Amino acid sequence: MDSLKIAIQKSGRLSEDSLKLFKECGIKFSNGAKKLKTIASNFPLEFLFLRDDDIPGYVEDRVADVGIVGRNVLLESQKPVIEILKLGFSRCRLSLAVSRDVDYSGIEYFQNKSIATSYPFILKNHLDDHNIKAEIHKISGSVEIAPGIGLTDGICDIVSSGSTLISNGLKEVEVIMKSEAVLVGHDDLNDHKMKLLDRLVFRINAVLEGRNNKYVLLNAPNDQIDEIVKILPGMRSPTVLPLAEKGWSSIHSVINEDEFWENIERIREAGAEGILVVPIEKMIR
Ligand code: ATP
Ligand code: ZN
Repeated sequence: MDSLKIAIQKSGRLSEDSLKLFKECGIKFSNGAKKLKTIASNFPLEFLFLRDDDIPGYVEDRVADVGIVGRNVLLESQKPVIEILKLGFSRCRLSLAVSRDVDYSGIEYFQNKSIATSYPFILKNHLDDHNIKAEIHKISGSVEIAPGIGLTDGICDIVSSGSTLISNGLKEVEVIMKSEAVLVGHDDLNDHKMKLLDRLVFRINAVLEGRNNKYVLLNAPNDQIDEIVKILPGMRSPTVLPLAEKGWSSIHSVINEDEFWENIERIREAGAEGILVVPIEKMIR
């Protein structure tokens, strides 16, 4: 039977985290640096290693069934390819930036100005939405030097920490979109490949949910259990076990990474002690 073909970036900011995700899904494969493709040994999955910009097109042409790209690349490609799943890594934003000396008051600043970018389609849409007419210079790399060498008034580029902007004398003034790595595909996989994709997505979700949650164990006096359980909802409900010491219990639960610190503070205030927080490798609801 056919394997599911997945296109991933050959080398770049998406590569390492993409490979790590499949390893954590229990999928085994060898990837030599020069390889163009490889087949997993324990799952019907074939990897194609490509430039990220080419991935939406390969999926459109059915050379690959699915792929991993940044949402920024997916949107810019304008290909009829759908986003299947957010993957939570390579988080960044596509932003407008200008020289730090500019007294910036709003997006009207860009009226009749020039902007360098590798994302002309997304930028044009955004400017149109705000009735801004600007001259867009498409350049494929080192966009951040354009204002400094007098090519354009501003840039529209990928930002994560912002340090590249700062070191080029620029400041971020508008966020156009937020991006992260996404699993993309087309919508007419045959039944066999659809089943493989479902199995793959099931595993990826288990890994991502594990990353987003922590296992928490703590001790509490019995009269505080109700209060603590309200803060720690758990997957179905928390586990409560008696301690050897009378009047005390151990409570086990799962807590979301995003709400973690706030909830831990509340749990301590409610009388919990001996709190252990343990990473979760996989989580299936
Ligand atoms: P290729 O050679 O495959 O064309 P590239 O140079 O176009 O690679 P990378 O710089 O590897 O692309 O970036 C790939 C994707 O990673 C980007 O499209 C974006 O979604 C994301 N990304 C880019 N820069 C950052 C960053 N600083 N932090 C996090 N994610 C980023
Ligand atoms: Zn690229």
